[in-house]
Amino acid sequence: MSLLKLLFIFTPGFLFNIYSSTTNPVYISGKLIKSSSEDAGYVAHVIVFVKGANKVLARTITDDKGKFELSFTPADEKSFDFYCTSVGIDTILLASVTSFESDTPTMTFLLPAKPIKNKFGKVICPLCRKSNKVYTIIYGDNPLVRIQINERGDTTYSPIVNGKYYSGSCAGGPAGYYCDRDKIKF
Ligand SMILES: [Zn+2]
Repeated sequence: MSLLKLLFIFTPGFLFNIYSSTTNPVYISGKLIKSSSEDAGYVAHVIVFVKGANKVLARTITDDKGKFELSFTPADEKSFDFYCTSVGIDTILLASVTSFESDTPTMTFLLPAKPIKNKFGKVICPLCRKSNKVYTIIYGDNPLVRIQINERGDTTYSPIVNGKYYSGSCAGGPAGYYCDRDKIKF
């Protein structure tokens, strides 16, 4: 067999592989479930969106049972970060995944997500997978702030005091933790 003929046979296969690994759309059938924690958020009529490489890839709204559908075409994103938000609650990270089991995955998210702990028992951030900038969120009317004055004499206020993050909203929210590295609640 000549080299030319071999090339002819294999080229369509290569093209198909490239095509299927980069441009197949993903159709997600999703469901938000209220977790058993007492501050669990509402799952009906909540905006759910997925971010990758700092861009919103798709956005939708849940039905009255917390179900939703999302579809988008992955490119070269390193991770796909699922968030939810609604009136009166902050934007909360639900989960971060690096791949999908199929082109039509079924995904279930707890609101808020069950905290993942490292081997030292510390909660880790779902995005950076580290614990050293993760703080427990305290809800309340009189939030504490830490006043910082830098070398130039500028004053800044930090909501992080004694290892806790003071949310400053009087109503409790579903997020239990805050990562100061990624500036996200989860
Ligand atoms: Zn983080």
